[in-house]
Amino acid sequence: MTEAERDALTSQMTQALGADAVLTEPDDIARYCRDWHGDVTTGAVAVLRPNSTGAVSEAVRLCARLGLAIVPQGGNTGLVLGGIPDDAGRQVVLSLERMTAIRRIDADDFSAVVDAGCVLEVIKQAVEAEDRFFPLSLGAQGSCRIGGNVSTNAGGINVLRYGMTRELILGLEVVLPDGTIWDGLSTLRKDNRGIDLKQIFIGAEGTLGIVTGVALKLLVKPTQVETALLALAGVEEAMALYRRARRDCCDLMSAFELLGPEAIGLAQIAHPDLPNPMEGSHPAYVLMEMAGTGLIDIRALLDRFLEGALEEGLVLDGVVAASRAQAAQLWRIREGMNDGQAMLGPHLRTDVSVPLSRVAAFVGAARDAVARELPDCRSVAYGHVGDGNIHFNVLPPQGADAATAAARIKAAKALVNGVLDGFDGSISAEHGIGRLKREDFEARLKPVQEGLLRALKSAIDPDGRMNPGCQLTPP
Ligand SMILES: Cc1cc2nc3c(=O)[nH]c(=O)nc-3n(C[C@H](O)[C@H](O)[C@H](O)COP(=O)(O)OP(=O)(O)OC[C@H]3O[C@@H](n4cnc5c(N)ncnc54)[C@H](O)[C@@H]3O)c2cc1C
Repeated sequence: MTEAERDALTSQMTQALGADAVLTEPDDIARYCRDWHGDVTTGAVAVLRPNSTGAVSEAVRLCARLGLAIVPQGGNTGLVLGGIPDDAGRQVVLSLERMTAIRRIDADDFSAVVDAGCVLEVIKQAVEAEDRFFPLSLGAQGSCRIGGNVSTNAGGINVLRYGMTRELILGLEVVLPDGTIWDGLSTLRKDNRGIDLKQIFIGAEGTLGIVTGVALKLLVKPTQVETALLALAGVEEAMALYRRARRDCCDLMSAFELLGPEAIGLAQIAHPDLPNPMEGSHPAYVLMEMAGTGLIDIRALLDRFLEGALEEGLVLDGVVAASRAQAAQLWRIREGMNDGQAMLGPHLRTDVSVPLSRVAAFVGAARDAVARELPDCRSVAYGHVGDGNIHFNVLPPQGADAATAAARIKAAKALVNGVLDGFDGSISAEHGIGRLKREDFEARLKPVQEGLLRALKSAIDPDGRMNPGCQLTPP
C-alpha cells in the first residue's frame, strides 16, 4: 500500500469514527501488532478503537466500504497469533479496549451482562462484590478481555469443576461482518428454540464477527478454598490420585495441576526468592484445590482425603496452605515455571489434550520420543491434567544458536504431534488455532469437517474479511 493510499484511508476512518478511535502512527500501533511473548511483530493499516456496539458496527461497515480486512483484538494475550494481523500490513486491528462497561449484575438471576472489552479480573472482582462468582481463572486474567475469552473458548485452572468458557456463557451480542448487530444477550438458563446461534461464535477467534457484549452465568462465591501441593512418584500416580479425588471429594475439587520434577527449579529462575515448600525433589507434583460454600467443611474433607492417600503411599509428601498468602505462594510455582522457561530462551510450547485415561501413557511416550530422537533437548510436561490438558514443552540445548534452536523446535513439534496423533489427542486444548497452528490444524481436518467449516465461514463472512488466515487458509 502506498503512503498516499494509506493517508486517504486513515483520513476517511478519522472522519467517520472520530480522531480518538483511530491510531495510525507506527509508535501508537506497534503494541497491537506484537504478540504476547514479543516473538512476532507485524504491521497494520490502522488500529480502530470504537467505544460502543454502534461504533463497532460503524467501523465494520466502513472497513467493508474500504475493502479492508479486520482482526479483532481483546487483551492480546492469545498465544497462537490470532489477535495480531498477518505480516502483509494491509489489515485493520479492531481493539475492544474502550468497551469496558459492566452493563448489569443481577445477583438473584445469577447473571451479569458486560461489554466484550471488560478485563476478566475486573469482572471477577465486580461480581464478587455482589457475593457472586465467575469461575473462569487463568494466568492472563489481569490482561485478557472477556470477548477474547469467548472467542478462544478459554479454559484455565478451574475447568474440571466449572467447564470451559462455553459453559459459562448465557448469551452474546455480535457485530456481523456486514455491520449488522445480532442481539442474543439473553440470560435464560434453558432455551431450546432450535439451533443455539451463540455457540458458533464461541471459539471462532474472530473469524465470524465481533463479540461486543456477553451475558455470563454466575455462581455462588466459594467461602472456603483449600490448596495443597503434593509430591508423588510419577504421572501415573498423579492420575490415580485424580480418580480417587473424583470418587471421594464430592466433586468439590476445583483445580488439579500436574507439575514435573523441574517445576520448582524453573519457577526459581523467574523468582529466586521462591522457597521450595518440601524437602528434596520428587518425580511429580500435584497442585490441588478444593472449594465450597455453605455448611460443608472443605478443610476436614481435604485432610481426610490426604490421610488416606498418604497411608496408601500414593502421596509421598505434601503441604496444605495455612493461609491465602501461602496458597498464593504455591500457585506462584505453577505460574513462575512458565516465566522460567521463557527466560531460558525460545522453546516448543504446546497445549495438547488426550483422553483422561491416557494422560500418563502420553506423557511417557512423548518423553521417550524426545529422549530418543532429540537427546540434547529437555522435555517439560505439566498442566491442567484434570482435564487431560498437558503443556508438553521441549527446550533446545542451553546456549544453542538461533538456527539450531529453531531446527530443534521444528523437529520437536513434529515429534510431539506425531505421538499425539497416536493417542487421538488435540493439538489445541484451549489456546485455539490462530495463525500459528493453522497448518497443523488443516493437516488433520477430515474432508466433511473442513467442508462444514468452510460453508459456515462463507455463509456468514462471504467476502472473507473477518480475521482472514486465522484458523483456515483463505480459499
Ligand atoms: C500467562 C498466560 C497464561 C494463559 N493461560 C491460559 C489458560 O490457562 N487457559 C487458556 O485458555 N488460555 C490461556 N492463555 C491464553 C489467553 O490468555 C487466552 O486465549 C485468552 O482467552 C485470550 O483473551 P484476549 O482478550 O487476550 O484475546 P486476544 O489475544 O486479543 O485474541 C484472541 C483471539 O480472539 C479474537 N478476539 C478477541 N476479542 C474478540 C472479540 N471481541 N470478538 C471476536 N473475536 C475476538 C482475536 O481476533 C484472536 O483470534 C494464557 C495466556 C498467557 C499470556
